[in-house]
Amino acid sequence: MFTSVEGRAVVVTGGTRGIGKGIASVFARSGARVLITGRDEADGQAAAAEIGAAFVAADVASKADGERVAAAAHQQLGGIDVLCANAGIFPSARLAEMTEADIDVTLGTNLKGPILSVQACLPQLKASGRGRVILTSSITGPITGFPGWTHYGASKAGQLGFMRTAAIELARDGITVNAVLPGNIMTEGLAGMGEDYIAGMTAAIPMRKLGSVADIGYVALFFATEEAAYITGQTIVVDGGQVLPESPDAVE
Ligand code: NAP
Repeated sequence: MFTSVEGRAVVVTGGTRGIGKGIASVFARSGARVLITGRDEADGQAAAAEIGAAFVAADVASKADGERVAAAAHQQLGGIDVLCANAGIFPSARLAEMTEADIDVTLGTNLKGPILSVQACLPQLKASGRGRVILTSSITGPITGFPGWTHYGASKAGQLGFMRTAAIELARDGITVNAVLPGNIMTEGLAGMGEDYIAGMTAAIPMRKLGSVADIGYVALFFATEEAAYITGQTIVVDGGQVLPESPDAVE
């Protein structure tokens, strides 16, 4: 039913693990040409081989790295039609103990990172004529809160502030800017939160299970289709109903 994304050039930051790898895999299976990024060279090469994607080692918090990624996409994919600005970190630090370095690294990766990625890819997204930017935000920050994640929540809510004005600025270039807001998705990164965290979250989700990386990949794919061309500056929550309960009784 939906127009194919076959042949589209897609860049996924943080595509070497977790949600980004899931997004990259969905696009690759749909016939798109995909380039993934991440900082770890060995992880990146392994994921790229598995997905059938190109890989560039790059830190999203670095402007120079972002420009290198854009240049590699130009060289290897012939342009950029879709940018999935996904790379992110979720270190935990209570407000009372949080250091300036904690704030800088979280905002630098999660908020400055997507802005730099969009800037670096912009000429090629404009040249595409049907450019798409898809941000991986979160329910945490835009909708919910969780102790230890004041800086993380600020970064993810900040992404939506960025999105709304970027969507206006880029509308006449035919570029849409949208965000997917995952709830709790089973990834390598989330596994690091520990069993108690995962059990607590599972109990709070009406569907009683964590999401999969493909659940997020399909929403990114939808935003990239021709049929979604008139949607910009919007969010889709993918959380198994996690933001809905008014109290724990509601999920009994
Ligand atoms: P993950 O499993 O830890 O994977 C993170 C990916 O991002 C890896 O490829 C990692 O590779 C890359 N990355 C991290 N820092 C980077 C940097 N500075 N520059 C470039 N790449 C970087 O995490 P995830 O759970 O998939 O999360 C992915 C995104 O989804 C994040 O933005 C996160 O906030 C968001 N999210 C996740 C969940 C969830 O439940 N999992 C929920 C809501 C939102 P390297 O480490 O090699 O750089």
